[in-house]
Amino acid sequence: MAESEGSPLAFSTSNLPLKLYINGQYVDSKDGKTPLAVYNPKDGTLVSDQVPLAGEKDVEAAVTAAEAAFPAWKKTTANQRRDILLKLASLIEQHNKELARLARLTLGAPWASFGAFEGVVCSETFKYNAGWTDKFAGESFPQENGYLQITRNEPLGVTCGIVPWNGPLAGIALKAAPALATGNCFILKPSEKTPFAPLALGALIEEAGFPPGVFQILSGDGSTGALLASHMRIRKVSFTGSIATGRKIQEMAAKSNLKRVTLELGGKSPAVVFDDCNLDNAVTWCVNAITANSGQVCYAASRIYVQKGIFDKFAAKYAEAMQARANAVGDPDEPSTLLGPVVDKAQFERVCGFIERGIDGQQGKLLVGGKRVTTGNTGSGYFIEPTVFQDVDPNAEIYQNEIFGPVSILNSFTLEEEVVQKANATEYGLMAGVFTQDVNKALRVASEFDSGMVGVNCISLVHVNTPFGGSKASGVGRECGRAALQAFTEPKTIMINMQYT
Ligand code: NAD
Repeated sequence: MAESEGSPLAFSTSNLPLKLYINGQYVDSKDGKTPLAVYNPKDGTLVSDQVPLAGEKDVEAAVTAAEAAFPAWKKTTANQRRDILLKLASLIEQHNKELARLARLTLGAPWASFGAFEGVVCSETFKYNAGWTDKFAGESFPQENGYLQITRNEPLGVTCGIVPWNGPLAGIALKAAPALATGNCFILKPSEKTPFAPLALGALIEEAGFPPGVFQILSGDGSTGALLASHMRIRKVSFTGSIATGRKIQEMAAKSNLKRVTLELGGKSPAVVFDDCNLDNAVTWCVNAITANSGQVCYAASRIYVQKGIFDKFAAKYAEAMQARANAVGDPDEPSTLLGPVVDKAQFERVCGFIERGIDGQQGKLLVGGKRVTTGNTGSGYFIEPTVFQDVDPNAEIYQNEIFGPVSILNSFTLEEEVVQKANATEYGLMAGVFTQDVNKALRVASEFDSGMVGVNCISLVHVNTPFGGSKASGVGRECGRAALQAFTEPKTIMINMQYT
């Protein structure tokens, strides 16, 4: 639906949402903590210093409202929940451009290369989960032992989601939609760096018909997240973010009430490109994978291994395409821009630090990029050239760590067994890709990758109907697909004595 159809979104870039959304209402924080400030990464200017920082009283108010709402919400019919989720999905679709503008204000992601995608993932995920409400059935078992045994998938109660800044809209739906579809109440804690699109959802949640307390939004920083993760009456935390914070979340969950935990953490995803691949296809996927959202994507293909026979050809095409992407860097508010800034000064300094140490420490040969972009009107923003290091030392920092910027490494290999070993030799295991026209090799390598997701002739993508998540330190549990519904429910076993008269 076009942006202008239907009623306008209650908020805009000149009327920012600056209140918490608790119990069906926009309210001021009760804790009186100093509000948070956010800046526009395209020029470093202050956007607002009035973003509410939810504290203990606000968390308590949200949990109390959710507890009050839970019994009735749990008992709504599957069709009622379906209709409300579908209404929210269509409102998000209708307001996708306005929501993307609110997200872009502090994220800097251009509409053409990321903004549109984000909103689509968000609305599609609500639709997908709406379809499950009357299909997520339990099981029944053979009753020859004299008992009819059945299971029901029971909601957990009050649940919460803590999300990062790099996917401020999509990240919400991956957690909220399965939680709500299965009858849980859900409290969202967006990132302190991208609060506006999530806070604006409050108006749409109300319009969609969610009863007060069912779906609430608390803006804040890590301190708010910690209050949720350690809360004694929240039964589940679904977290997406860094490994360091993920560890703390798991610890807080264990030390409080053993709440259920799902962790979606970082990645350093390998793309393995064999001699027999379709070269242009491999180059296109690898370039898009590390430049979308300025490389600030958990499953970005940041390590590329190319077989020796085509290495030079691949390197030349990849370098050319990355350079072309550098020429498309610009103001994220311009429709033609494909590559915007990184999210803020701290992220800019972090990514530039990796690049500088990579160059100074000769961790590899700089093939493309390596500098701040200062062309046109980008000089005061946090723009970084797409950057590629070639022949990187496997022990080097840029090889081992998630940089979370438009920076990749390009190494060569000879044998299949050798590259599988190299691809698996980090603590990450989120996604991997294999590029070849040999289906046997593709399936062999796909099964050897130690990662939660594998692309064959593609990489760095998500489908809402299949499990999404990582192995090893990249995460615990899965989002998307049926797995996400399981993560927000518990089977209850009911045993019926068939001999009872
Ligand atoms: P982060 O860990 O700094 O923050 C994530 C969220 O956790 C934010 O909302 C933050 O306020 C909150 N938080 C911070 N400290 C906390 C604490 N002590 N207790 C509770 N909550 C706390 O991560 P980030 O910098 O926002 O995001 C980038 C990271 O997220 C990258 O590592 C990236 O790979 C990862 N990520 C993973 C996925 C995935 O699905 N696997 C998707 C997107 C991003």
